[in-house]
Amino acid sequence: MERKFQRLGLVQPSDFVVHLPIRYEDETRIIDIGAARPGHTVQLEGEILHSEVQLRPRRQLVAVLSDGTGRISLRWLHFYPNQRRQVETGKRVRVRGELRQGFNGFEIVHPRVTVAGGPLPNSLTPVYPTTEGLAQPTLRRAIQEALKQADLSESLPAELCRSLSLPSFAEAIRLLHAPPVGMSVDTLVERGHPAWRRIKFDELLAQQLSLALARRLRRAQRAVPLPISDAGLVGRLRDSLPFTLTSAQERVIQEISTDLGRGYPMHRLLQGDVGSGKTVVAAFAAAQAIANGRQAAIMAPTEILAEQHFRKLADWLVPLNVNVAWLTGSLTTKQRRAALEAAANGEAQLIIGTQALIQEKVRFARLGLVILDEQHRFGVGQRLELNRKGEAASGDSGDNPYMPHQLSMSATPIPRTLAMTFFADLEVSTIDELPPGRSPVITKLISDARREEVLSLVHREVLAGRQAYWVCPLVEESESLQLQTAVDTHAMLADAFPDMVVGLVHGRMTPAEKQAIMDDFRQGRTQLLVATTVIEVGVDVPNACLMIIEHAERFGLAQLHQLRGRVGRGTGQSVCVLMYQGPLSGVARERLRAMYETNDGFEIARRDLEQRGPGEFLGLRQSGQELLRYADLQSDSGIVEQAREAATDMLEHYPDHVEKHLNRWMRGRQDLLRS
Ligand code: ADP
Ligand code: MG
Repeated sequence: MERKFQRLGLVQPSDFVVHLPIRYEDETRIIDIGAARPGHTVQLEGEILHSEVQLRPRRQLVAVLSDGTGRISLRWLHFYPNQRRQVETGKRVRVRGELRQGFNGFEIVHPRVTVAGGPLPNSLTPVYPTTEGLAQPTLRRAIQEALKQADLSESLPAELCRSLSLPSFAEAIRLLHAPPVGMSVDTLVERGHPAWRRIKFDELLAQQLSLALARRLRRAQRAVPLPISDAGLVGRLRDSLPFTLTSAQERVIQEISTDLGRGYPMHRLLQGDVGSGKTVVAAFAAAQAIANGRQAAIMAPTEILAEQHFRKLADWLVPLNVNVAWLTGSLTTKQRRAALEAAANGEAQLIIGTQALIQEKVRFARLGLVILDEQHRFGVGQRLELNRKGEAASGDSGDNPYMPHQLSMSATPIPRTLAMTFFADLEVSTIDELPPGRSPVITKLISDARREEVLSLVHREVLAGRQAYWVCPLVEESESLQLQTAVDTHAMLADAFPDMVVGLVHGRMTPAEKQAIMDDFRQGRTQLLVATTVIEVGVDVPNACLMIIEHAERFGLAQLHQLRGRVGRGTGQSVCVLMYQGPLSGVARERLRAMYETNDGFEIARRDLEQRGPGEFLGLRQSGQELLRYADLQSDSGIVEQAREAATDMLEHYPDHVEKHLNRWMRGRQDLLRS
């Protein structure tokens, strides 16, 4: 039983207390059979007039119940001998269940039966979220017990409750676990009741408090300040770039630069739509760290992306005498050893890699800055791991070791309310401008039935000297099926276009193979590249102007936007064709519509959040913990603001209340917010 409670996160009495009902049943009343209407759950009392086991059309137990105002049938398709005894002719019983229109008048199938005349509860019966094998009555008893033991005293300053007209915690909790007779079930279930408002406020407040504390904690940490000096490496980088930075890039470079100069670790998220030019911003941050004699590390989610960063950054920085190393799973043992050594002895100034960077063997001599590209692709655990690595790698130990500065980059912008509630300990910089000369990608929705048209479009583009991607459908159930689809598609396209070189890249290839294929495409030796979603993030080939996505209806919105971002990187007009197969579900239709209607990453993110909810949107689902159980960021955004203000006030004036409140609401969850 304990394990089942644990699965629901219920360990201490205080956990049970805030495990709140999803709905209620009204068992406080008994109604007349004559007044009962089908389609509702009813509670009736009366006498069994007759009962029998029928054998046709199948074996079943049927009884007739009457209370003088009418009669109904009770029916069991599965039953035990004691159930049969419960409804023997002449017995007086109380029954409960959903009344429906049966073949011979009203009936209840599988009613709950107890003896008649028992006392009626004087509150609504709560129904709790539960887990397999844990029945409602057991859970109810445990919660009732906890309500007697737990400390329900107030965790908010009285003044705050008064000014926001919030009921007390004890009052709200008691009401929600056992609403009195006559209370409107609707306002309770829709969570508009003041008691619910109090609970949501509490939850959001706890979140704001722990974020503020995390921020305080970080500011109390030490980092090596990496001040800017324009005359040095940073200035030379600016002078040597083949393009002029956009003013948005200049602004965020400045923001990051200021952070790096501080004596506590930077914790900044750089968000900018696909193609907005985040990589060069990362180069500036790295240059500033390197100019100060520190190492910088960049971690990317895929080999292809890490390799591309390596190329690009090496292009910019090697001519300025920066020593760039790279570390991925694809290196030979010898190369790997050399890279590890260069990182450990400090020879390598910039280290670029995949998850391989956070493996145990990797040591850094003087790590000053960690950059995480496409941070949403990393799990919470990996982000924490990198933090720990930095701590160990800072080249000193003791009570308060130096921590590296941290820059995360993402093309999936986080809407404001979300950033406020989940990333309050993250400064955000936004690139809201694309480099000049780009024309927006034209998106076309084309039914699978018009495949011929799509093929001729590909042909035309390639004849005109441009390149194209062909993205194979996602097959969620099976990776090998997905691979098979990619291989088949490649064969089909190679057959359809004998005059073209058609390449294929997929997740099962070795990193070296992938690299060779991407090289061919980048150099223009391949005109059409068939790919699985391995090309989803970051790949940058400006001459590729056409993207075909098959079975676009199977992809998520953020994923489609990322994929589309692979084209429109050069100066030519780019086209993205979303092929779909009907009939479309409502959600799929909305997604495709969003893609068709807008190219704006922020708008896409907003709609994506709306469709999927914050947990999944932020990729936190795998953590198994819902971040907010009761409050809803969209509909409760007013409460979010109140909670934010209250948090600031409480931290300043009511430290004891803060501690009590966090103990009640946040036990064991703080780590999640700090990642
Ligand atoms: P993302 O933000 O999606 O990571 P990238 O950093 O890959 O974008 O940049 C996309 C392309 O734009 C790259 O080829 C990059 O070199 C180029 N680029 C970046 N900044 C500018 C600029 N200010 N002017 C022209 N091209 C730029
Ligand atoms: Mg990028």
